[in-house]
Amino acid sequence: MSVPALADVERLPIARPSRFSRTMMVSAVTVLVTAAIVPVSTHQLPATISFMPALLAVVAAFDILSVLLLAGDFRDRGDVRLLVMSCAYAWSLAVMAGYGLAFPGGVMLDPVLGTSPSVAPYLYVAWHTGFPLLLGAAWLPWPVRWTRATSPQWRRQVSLIAVATAVALGAALVAVVAYFGPDLPVLIVGLDTSRMTTLTAPVAVPLVVVALMLAVRGTREFYGPERWASVAILVCLCDLVLTYTASSRFSLGWYVGRTMTVIAAGVVLMAMLVAFRRIKARAEQDAVEDALTGLLNRRGAMAALEVLGVRARRADQPLGVVSCDLDLFKTVNDRYGHEAGDAVLAAVGRVLRDSVRAGDVAARVGGEEFLLLLPDTDVEGSRTVAEKVREAVSRLEVVGVPGPLTASLGVTVLSQHDADDSAALRRADQALYEAKHAGRDRVVVLLDPEPTASSQDVGLTKSSPQR
Ligand code: GH3
Ligand code: MG
Ligand code: MG
Repeated sequence: MSVPALADVERLPIARPSRFSRTMMVSAVTVLVTAAIVPVSTHQLPATISFMPALLAVVAAFDILSVLLLAGDFRDRGDVRLLVMSCAYAWSLAVMAGYGLAFPGGVMLDPVLGTSPSVAPYLYVAWHTGFPLLLGAAWLPWPVRWTRATSPQWRRQVSLIAVATAVALGAALVAVVAYFGPDLPVLIVGLDTSRMTTLTAPVAVPLVVVALMLAVRGTREFYGPERWASVAILVCLCDLVLTYTASSRFSLGWYVGRTMTVIAAGVVLMAMLVAFRRIKARAEQDAVEDALTGLLNRRGAMAALEVLGVRARRADQPLGVVSCDLDLFKTVNDRYGHEAGDAVLAAVGRVLRDSVRAGDVAARVGGEEFLLLLPDTDVEGSRTVAEKVREAVSRLEVVGVPGPLTASLGVTVLSQHDADDSAALRRADQALYEAKHAGRDRVVVLLDPEPTASSQDVGLTKSSPQR
């Protein structure tokens, strides 16, 4: 089995997707709504002039955001499928703009591209066929491995050229349809769209079905938010079906169809935004959390020390600082393997978590080095906690590690005289160092120097070998 690239790994599901995934649920709802509307789709509703401009503005915003995010994602990971999707939205944006300029009341009441009443319906059909086809084309067997190996600079250039080309092709199509509009067969007479159905549905619907099949097949093993492309295509298909069965503008089917246009344009964008929010939450957690023990990592511990240090000084309360290091841990790895070593670290993590109160901080700050921050805890309290940890570690039984485990701990208290928080940290490490030198498996307490003493002077030192 080949080793997955980072980009593949990122696409793996965090949890195993259930049989009834959200994409399936949204698809089912879309089909049900369409099926429910079709029998009454010809029901005529008032012509709301503001509906079309609002819809076009929302779709344009969705398209622009989708182009930017997908092209950016392609530049970051090199998955060419994302670039093809980005081009689908860019092309859609150009054709939609043409449609808006051809539809009476789309952008202006007397549309500039309305050389013939058929320009807007032709552009509508082209838009609702071309967009799903391009989205579906993203799931053709592209050379993804090859594009992943390209440089970000190359991808940047390619994405700019590809998106610009997609916009230019969309604009060219609009120009051709607008130019030849008067010579094309009339699709809509008054509000009656039945000729549009007879002439274009036999071509448009099968093409969108093909696009849907491509996307469903391609996204089956794909767990990124872009798998929602198949839902976007399905919504497009339902939009077409409703428009064709509505047989007139401003009917119920027409309004629901147009609303589906918004959903088709925005569904992938929404999925991407939800995914980004999850990734952000996970990144924030990973930035401060140690994956093996679930304790804070060094960065998290330093942030906590800063906050607790300020609080302790302000309230004139002690802050206990306990540095802990496993004894001769290298031999555990050497004798029983790295995995057994990891199991010990995880067990020690649990010991630390169980040994402190709510509000205390337990962190893994290095390989087998841990730190406890104990707010409102004086030196005796901190020593008691450290002793509790030492005893609990010596009682630990870890499968596959027969020998006794021990830890050395250095204890101090953040003092008003400390120049900064790291002074207390250094003192706790100094105490730990002394514990190691005194023979390991013990707690040593080291207090801050008197305010009058020189900074080189260790001041009041209390070593307390426990055995
Ligand atoms: P001392 O009593 O003086 O602290 O001796 P020691 O062997 O514990 O100290 P040393 O710093 O020499 O070794 C620390 C070892 O911790 C080295 C490395 O093999 C191990 N280690 C560091 N990080 C990890 C980790 O994430 N997993 C495992 N299994 N071992 C780790
Ligand atoms: Mg050690
Ligand atoms: Mg160490």
